[in-house]
Amino acid sequence: MSKNSPLLTIVVPCYNEEAVLGETTKELTRVMNRLVTDEKISDASIILYVDDGSADRTWDIIEEQIASHKYVEGLKLSRNFGHQGALIAGLETARQFSDCVVSIDADLQDDVDVIYEFIEKYQQGYEIVYGVRDKRDTDTAFKRNTALGFYRLMGKLGIKLVPNHADYRLMSKRALDEFVKYQEENVFIRGIVPLLGFKATNVYYNRKERFAGESKYPLKKMLAFAWEGITSFSIVPIRFVSALGFFMVLIGIGIAIYTLFAKLFSETVSGWTSLMLSIWMVGGIQLLALGIIGEYIGKIFRETKKRPRYTIEKNSYVENQERHLMNSK
Ligand code: UDP
Ligand code: MG
Repeated sequence: MSKNSPLLTIVVPCYNEEAVLGETTKELTRVMNRLVTDEKISDASIILYVDDGSADRTWDIIEEQIASHKYVEGLKLSRNFGHQGALIAGLETARQFSDCVVSIDADLQDDVDVIYEFIEKYQQGYEIVYGVRDKRDTDTAFKRNTALGFYRLMGKLGIKLVPNHADYRLMSKRALDEFVKYQEENVFIRGIVPLLGFKATNVYYNRKERFAGESKYPLKKMLAFAWEGITSFSIVPIRFVSALGFFMVLIGIGIAIYTLFAKLFSETVSGWTSLMLSIWMVGGIQLLALGIIGEYIGKIFRETKKRPRYTIEKNSYVENQERHLMNSK
């Protein structure tokens, strides 16, 4: 059953989305019906809304839709956990009864019709399919440029991201089973998924305007999100302190030579030499020490994540075990 007509769950995090939910369900149902008719997915497939502690009528609407619409189910979080938290709640729940899961925002900015292509790729054997925005002309120039800068910076810091990919993607149950092993407190899903490995591909689409309502990601939240991404994936900032400290010590040694020469061969104000020396040497040594302590904190930081240290994609031993057993008879 599973690869031929897999059970698909579409996870949709919602925070104060009363204005769009009607349309979202209409659009997603249209896509679901098409997939079911073409026997691409099981007709027990689900649209799973996750209400992220909304203050408006979002949950009431979801409840109404659960009662009146074929595919709709809902999760309600106890408070606002933020987009990433809501997404994880949805993914972990969906994993238990789905063969594959698509995550998408509620606001219909991402082209729902490419879910069809996601499923085709899944059937071709891809475990992860990334939705990648082709053009971003509907986003403001500001949002586009800050996003671009963000991907560049992350790349420089050694964090592998799929550029122009938000959280619109398909993951197979197998990929999700691995994903849930990343039990870190500070989650940055976009950074974790590429770490899973497996056969992955991109599907391109044009990003549209928000259907209704306004962005729940103002600049402040965007910056917090970027910072979260950097600090939960990279200890490069700590390395930077070490490097700075080392550099300061070098300058300190230069200044030491200079001041000693100045003291020996020309007139200097009394106290100048010792002051110069202490400022530069002590400053440099302190920064270097901070950096070294930082290195150890970085190690603790990695340890506390308890990330899995490997992911097995194929295991010929287990696969061939039956054959071995038969041969040995
Ligand atoms: N969202 C959420 N919790 C939050 C903020 C946002 O679940 O605390 C949801 C929101 O309802 C939407 C998605 O996350 O479905 C993306 O948010 P939005 O469209 O406002 O972000 P943007 O597209 O402007 O970056
Ligand atoms: Mg949006």
